[in-house]
Amino acid sequence: MPSSKPPSKPGRSPARGSAPSQSGKPGQAASPSRATPSAKPSSPYQTSARPSRPARPAEGRAAERPAPRDTRPFGQTEEPVAEARPPREHKPPKVPKAARNLGGSAQLVLKPEREKSLQRRHPWVFSGAVDLVEDTLVSGDTVAIRSAQGGFLGWGAYSPNSQILARVWDFHEGTRIDAEFFAERIRKAAARRDRVFGSEPTHAVRLVHGEADGLPGVVVDRFADQGVLQLTTAGAWRWRDAIADAVAHVTGLEKLYERSDADVLELEGLPHRVEVVRGEAPSGPVTIEENDLRFQVDVREGHKTGFYLDQRDSRALLRDLSENREVLDCFCYTGGFTMSALAGGASYVTAVDSSKDALAAARRHVTLNELPEARVDFVEADVFALLRKMRDQGRRFDVIVLDPPKFAPTAALAQNAARGYKDINLWAMKLLRPGGLLFTFSCSGGVSRDLFQKIVAGAAVDAGVDARVLHHMSAATDHPVSLSFPEGEYLKGLLVEIG
Ligand code: SAH
Repeated sequence: MPSSKPPSKPGRSPARGSAPSQSGKPGQAASPSRATPSAKPSSPYQTSARPSRPARPAEGRAAERPAPRDTRPFGQTEEPVAEARPPREHKPPKVPKAARNLGGSAQLVLKPEREKSLQRRHPWVFSGAVDLVEDTLVSGDTVAIRSAQGGFLGWGAYSPNSQILARVWDFHEGTRIDAEFFAERIRKAAARRDRVFGSEPTHAVRLVHGEADGLPGVVVDRFADQGVLQLTTAGAWRWRDAIADAVAHVTGLEKLYERSDADVLELEGLPHRVEVVRGEAPSGPVTIEENDLRFQVDVREGHKTGFYLDQRDSRALLRDLSENREVLDCFCYTGGFTMSALAGGASYVTAVDSSKDALAAARRHVTLNELPEARVDFVEADVFALLRKMRDQGRRFDVIVLDPPKFAPTAALAQNAARGYKDINLWAMKLLRPGGLLFTFSCSGGVSRDLFQKIVAGAAVDAGVDARVLHHMSAATDHPVSLSFPEGEYLKGLLVEIG
């Protein structure tokens, strides 16, 4: 169940698409979260509102922002272990019950029969599977993960405050986890994007996507000349300098900003950290291009690292299917889907969000892209209430987009999330004309693709409509999913035709 805590600043919620969070069991990863509504939550499902609270370390933005870090050339980060150690004063690592003196060697030994998932290359080690941990280890240390028989399983990063006690960097005993290891992983991640995008401009792209790029807890987005890091695990924090050096070297980006302010950090016992890592601070929004449309990305205050890059392909599909259609874009944020519908020739678009700031940005995007202002209406409202109201008013649409924030961070919360998804899908289906199209999404890690489709099917039954899936959607190709880490597939979408 999403929280309905009073929101703080609109537009600075943590990310969907940054890093799956822990949930206590394999296969129950939480998705990185989404969107903070700015209006007072009026529905039980309104989510992700960040509570107003005293500034935590690095959360105080400009006032508390440390000076830019040094800009040593790549390769000169000799001792990242000593240098990049996260601030210990925040929360001293708890020594797990199983901690023993194992002769000072950095290792973690699993209970008998608990090595199976690692042998299948799932990169997470849950605390319940661990028998012994060397007691001198501190947060972020690199550990050898061993089976009860002593067999080597992988090199991981130790995270004593998390239910995920270690995340694997590499499964080969001969690999050295050092600055060059991170440089190589980042080179490979960048090359992967180059292969996918070819000669297309790749200046608004996710360069590193956590586990799928072999770097748990590490997200790197590129917005034109600005790089943004989001580091959500103790291991990722330990190696920040090496990661930043490698990103700068591989991409040539001189400006790197850190947006480690996702909710999942709390589960790691890490503070929020938002600061300049390399180069100057962003002086204003960065203009990017996506599918020939321009957007201004606020990397300092925007949701997640500033923009929902994951919806690039689904927005392009909407654009192809919008001509002469009346479109309702629910949870529009800064207007990604709205601009696509207008550019695709929609006869009219109604764009809804509870955040005034997001709507203001969306309005600016219409002007920036010279799209017809007379064909769009921006509505500040709670989608749950508005859909019912529109039904009472007899409103009908040809296309509806439902791209809500995360309703269920973990599978344990899927039940409540299911109610939320069913509710909005049911009402949207009632608002669609026969032959109408529903673009419906879930970015809840706790809700599987299968469950999501069942929920949407249930909504169709209750709405009394015939419906069929025309297309399955997911995050864009720069957000890969590792086959050994299916939890990484947080964003699921269905294109459903009604009637
Ligand atoms: N579709 C957007 C991303 C949506 S993020 C894109 O393509 O960029 C989710 C959005 O939902 C946020 O902007 C948040 O402000 C909004 N939101 C959250 N709860 C809401 C509610 N109950 N009613 C309306 N908007 C809501």
